Amino acid sequence: MPSTDMPPTEMNGNPPPRESADQHLDGNAAGGVLGAIFPFEMTMAMATCSGCGTTNPLGAVMAYIYGMGTILRCPTCDTVLIRIAHIRGRYYLDLRGMQLLQFSEETPSA
Ligand SMILES: [Zn+2]
Repeated sequence: MPSTDMPPTEMNGNPPPRESADQHLDGNAAGGVLGAIFPFEMTMAMATCSGCGTTNPLGAVMAYIYGMGTILRCPTCDTVLIRIAHIRGRYYLDLRGMQLLQFSEETPSA
């Protein structure tokens, strides 16, 4: 099998902010903002990456927390799974990086 396939991150169009990589946390750090949006425990939610097809619990992906935004990345291929911005009382969610997000109604957020 030829290894000439373009890596999924090359198609993402959003260069990763490498300079800020030292702010890398795990997905549990994003539990607060996710809990403000979804009525379920989202660190237990399973996200399927659109870049590589891997499914990870959101609590185990890589999280980057910025002043007004949160970015969750696939730990396997670095694709941005979820982008959350909270600006002037309004949430902006970019979920393009996920093929699928599944969570259980049995796990309400705390
Ligand atoms: Zn991936």
